[in-house]
Amino acid sequence: MRDPHTAPPVLAAPASPLPDCPRCAEAPERISWRQRPGEPVVLVFDPCGHRWTSPAPPVLAVTPF
Ligand SMILES: [Zn+2]
Repeated sequence: MRDPHTAPPVLAAPASPLPDCPRCAEAPERISWRQRPGEPVVLVFDPCGHRWTSPAPPVLAVTPF
């Protein structure tokens, strides 16, 4: 007896370990950021190229395999 509603494994690798772009909600391939003393952190999302300012660098919950 098969259950078509079987939930996927919780520990499956997420589609993207990076936070989505706050501008276009796309999952970025890469996020680079630059920080200057006394200024907020500027996040640059690739490949959409959007920028986002943040008071702190992004916290990336990347778990090594
Ligand atoms: Zn974007």
